[in-house]
Amino acid sequence: MSAVATLDWLGCATFRLRLDDLVIFLDAYVDRAPGAPPTGVSAAEIDRADWIVVGHSHFDHLWGAERIAKQTGATIVGSYETVRIMLEQGVPERQLMPVAGGERVELAEQISVSVFPSQHSCIWSHARFEQPDEVCLGDLGLSYQERRSRLAGRAGRRADLSDEVRAYLQAGNQGARGDGGALVYRFQTPGGSLLFQDTCGYWSGQLPSWRSDVAILAAAGRGNIDGEPIQGSLAEFVAGEAAVLQPRRLILGHHDDWLPGMSIATNTAPIRAAVAARTPAVELVEMGYCAAYPIFDGLAAAPSGAQEGVTA
Ligand SMILES: [Zn+2]
Repeated sequence: MSAVATLDWLGCATFRLRLDDLVIFLDAYVDRAPGAPPTGVSAAEIDRADWIVVGHSHFDHLWGAERIAKQTGATIVGSYETVRIMLEQGVPERQLMPVAGGERVELAEQISVSVFPSQHSCIWSHARFEQPDEVCLGDLGLSYQERRSRLAGRAGRRADLSDEVRAYLQAGNQGARGDGGALVYRFQTPGGSLLFQDTCGYWSGQLPSWRSDVAILAAAGRGNIDGEPIQGSLAEFVAGEAAVLQPRRLILGHHDDWLPGMSIATNTAPIRAAVAARTPAVELVEMGYCAAYPIFDGLAAAPSGAQEGVTA
């Protein structure tokens, strides 16, 4: 058993996982925008990391990985787009491990992470973030070109950004990039299994194989199921995932006001209610920043991972 297994939320979808002496960053977006609630940690201060696993390549997940990797020698696991950007940012190739889903990376003795292909939330379908009980319908069957056109035309979404936030975004601009293909990670440790998802999407055929003792699920934007936007609310999306995954403990991510003027401070009550209605046994955890939350406490007697016997 791991003597210590704690999780720090560093805002947005970034977490720091400590498994005894091993330090693993889940995403690496640490330096917050002006006006975002402070977490008390900056990327420059981070001097200890062994691994950085990145869910996708957008700046609010990846920006910071280049500095943390250089400062600590940590190896970055991420998509080929993530690796391309990190190479451009001067991270040595020996610290980069490109994955696409289907791999299992050994992180330390008895600790590994499996990589799954996933989907990004439908950022093209809306001009602003909605609260989780707002029902969104339509937008089905659009071509890639139509989605790109919508994305390019949603200039209003950025209209509310302050000059300070605009300058901040410019300072952290790492050049053009896509999301790189969203990835989901499932950690297997002696103390239990942990799922990390950093954007609201999944392939429904994959979802049952993500089952874990503890699941970090993204809670922001319009959910994506098999490439199409959810017909319903974000709360229903998260509750639907929980109903399949059946984690013993569910931790929310990406739900804070990480980019004031574009993001929102999510009211999590509808998510809590929707999850409780469908899977009352799931313990939903909303952690504060840097709380050193003991993720597997109270789960030690349970079988680690519930993936056996699962059928899609
Ligand atoms: Zn993204």
